[in-house]
Amino acid sequence: MPTQASDDAFAEVKARVDLVKVVSEHVRLTRRNKDFWGLCPFHQEDSPSFKVNPQMQSWYCFGCERSGDVFTFVELIEKTDKRGALQMLAERAGVELKKLSPEQRERVDVRKRVLDMLKLAAQYYEYVLWKTPAGEPGRRLLESRRVSEETARRFQLGYAPAGRGFAEYLRAKKRSLSDAQEAGLMRRDGSDFFAERLVIPIRDERGQTLAFTARTVRQDEQRKYINSPETPAYIKGRVIFGLDLARDEIARRGHGVLMEGQFDVITGHQFGVSNAVASSGTALTEEQVRLLKRFTDELLLVFDSDRAGRTAMRKAVTLASTFGMRTRVASLPDAKDPDEFLRAAGPDAAQRWEELVSRAPSGFEAGMEEDSAGLNPSNPNQVELVAGRLREWIRQFPEGLREGYAEAAERHTGISRHLLLRDPEPAPPPRPRTNGFGARTTGKKVTAGSYLVQLLAVRPGAFGLVRTKLTPQELEQDDRSIYVRMLESYERGGASGLEADLAGYPPEEQDLIRRAWAAPPPNVDDEVALELAARIRLEHMKGMHSGIIRELSEAERGRDSEKVARLEAEARELARAITDMERRGWTSRAQ
Ligand SMILES: [Zn+2]
Repeated sequence: MPTQASDDAFAEVKARVDLVKVVSEHVRLTRRNKDFWGLCPFHQEDSPSFKVNPQMQSWYCFGCERSGDVFTFVELIEKTDKRGALQMLAERAGVELKKLSPEQRERVDVRKRVLDMLKLAAQYYEYVLWKTPAGEPGRRLLESRRVSEETARRFQLGYAPAGRGFAEYLRAKKRSLSDAQEAGLMRRDGSDFFAERLVIPIRDERGQTLAFTARTVRQDEQRKYINSPETPAYIKGRVIFGLDLARDEIARRGHGVLMEGQFDVITGHQFGVSNAVASSGTALTEEQVRLLKRFTDELLLVFDSDRAGRTAMRKAVTLASTFGMRTRVASLPDAKDPDEFLRAAGPDAAQRWEELVSRAPSGFEAGMEEDSAGLNPSNPNQVELVAGRLREWIRQFPEGLREGYAEAAERHTGISRHLLLRDPEPAPPPRPRTNGFGARTTGKKVTAGSYLVQLLAVRPGAFGLVRTKLTPQELEQDDRSIYVRMLESYERGGASGLEADLAGYPPEEQDLIRRAWAAPPPNVDDEVALELAARIRLEHMKGMHSGIIRELSEAERGRDSEKVARLEAEARELARAITDMERRGWTSRAQ
């Protein structure tokens, strides 16, 4: 490729960019004499050994001994090659590279226009939020969340008014509406994609707005949040929300805090957890981990404590470990998410957060504790069960860590490390992974499904009522197979069928039922059984509802108006049924 990557091109670009400026977008630099110093972005350290020499336009790290010029710096930090670095720096310096194919040229242009448009939109939304009467619903929402104006402005929150305000604004500024459509901001008819929503810019680590996520201010709106579609500027799974604001604090504290929701992060920053970020729009991806790894080697994970949150947590722990990152897991007492926790703590938030951080076990330990909760070491069935889970958990980590983890697990459970490292025997075929009834019955969180199974073990007669109120499909998978087996026993042998059939149950299920007999749940009567059935049904309906809402967003993005209408009707009907059911008060009882 002669022209594009010629020495001329490199020289020209190099002459136009300043290494200090480029580096300081990634590293906080302090001047000492004629050089600049900072924490090396390429290895973990507590005191600065990374030096930039502005005269020579070169850099050197005394810690990891990497060095180079602006191109090598960009190559390493952006994980690209020499050509990619040239491309990026040329764009920034306004140097036109020859020999770009027309398609490449076009891509670069579109991306630039989209980015411009997103920037303009963010400014417009922010202006509407604070300076116009139309911004009132947005201001009210922030007030109810107790987000201060100062915090809101740091995140450049905004409000998209009803109607076509943005289109009118663009017309007044003589800007192209088609760029706004390309940027995912506007529908074809000119209406604002985010109308009547509080708008949250999703920015890259340098603070450039790439997309938006937006929360409705309307009570009757089914989709609480909607996100920008993918555009030439935005690819889902590559951005970490809040990183532009959190990066300095991440470096200072030596770890980043990874949360699930954007609002958690916003509240976090307001209450002094300014190293908080969130994986945006998806479960944590490899690309996001690589990006975080540029800023720190340690993540504190704060995920929801429900089943989905715990699964996501485990995935994040093992994914991070394959990139050589350490994780710790904080669990929030009496709160469903960090937002709730911090707001409840109020003025004590900083202190309570510190306590939480200091208590957080490593990612491996958190999984281990969950897998072995309630273990009775004198029960061989249980030992086998827990050993199986731990083996599976340990195997998810890179080879080099497994030995040490097995040792830790041996100390914690008394199960021999050799048993924990042993390869599984070829038979029996793999069973679907369960999160473990034991963990749920002895840990703090008992799901309605597991409670119901225990209750039915103790009082099989309740099947007579429950089976008319609940179909097995409504149970979560973990509880379903044992429920179905018990139901069959009941239908065959009535209230004594379970005892008669039990010996033929899988050992894990036998064990579970015997444990319920030995230690029955607190309330065992028909009324509680019915309430549990109703709660399970309700949870199932809510799950279906969010499924439809997800589908709806897809359909809308694909502009499939027929499907949108059908899904909207389904969602509305389901939402109504859910509200009815909640109003009847099933959920607040049977705790
Ligand atoms: Zn270094």
